[in-house]
Amino acid sequence: MITVSDVKQYLYCPKIIYFDHVLHVPKPADEKLKTGKEKHDSITAKEKRRKGALFYDPELDRAEKMFRVFLESSTLGLRGILDYLVRTDNEFIPVDYKFGLSRNGGVHLNHKYQLAAYALLVEESFKTTVKRGYIHYSKDKVNVQVDLNDEIRRRALKMIREIGRIIQEQIEPIGTRNTGRCTDCEYSRYCVAHQSED
Ligand code: SF4
Repeated sequence: MITVSDVKQYLYCPKIIYFDHVLHVPKPADEKLKTGKEKHDSITAKEKRRKGALFYDPELDRAEKMFRVFLESSTLGLRGILDYLVRTDNEFIPVDYKFGLSRNGGVHLNHKYQLAAYALLVEESFKTTVKRGYIHYSKDKVNVQVDLNDEIRRRALKMIREIGRIIQEQIEPIGTRNTGRCTDCEYSRYCVAHQSED
């Protein structure tokens, strides 16, 4: 079973899936995780206190708010913990928190498909159709709406299948062509693709 975070990692660089799930390379301790949890708790506490859901949207005044929702699908072979799920009489709205900046007020591609993967899990768990979701970027305090159309769903499903194939068939994929990403990659010390560029 893969996680929703794997979808984000796959889009950052498919080779990360290989290091993590095929070679099981130990990850270095991540200080950002602790800071991330503190920020996450702080955003959740504020959102719990607010009357309207989704950061004061008056349309969602009577919505039910669910936090850290565990979702799993054996059909998709996917699981994840969604930061925040808003439930109204008519719809379910998944929300994912990010602690960095938005992409000039828009969404980053890997975050969009991570949200789409959560939407697929929400659809299966609650027998519903998710029409939209949000990414909350805490650094510039932007909430970006993502319309979850059939094309995004189709692409997300394709990525989930491809990640599963890398793991099951132990395929070593080609690394990202954006070598700037290697600088921040926790697997760079193990990565021949990265080292050959030095
Ligand atoms: S170092 Fe670069 S190519 Fe290697 S896994 Fe990381 S991002 Fe991918």
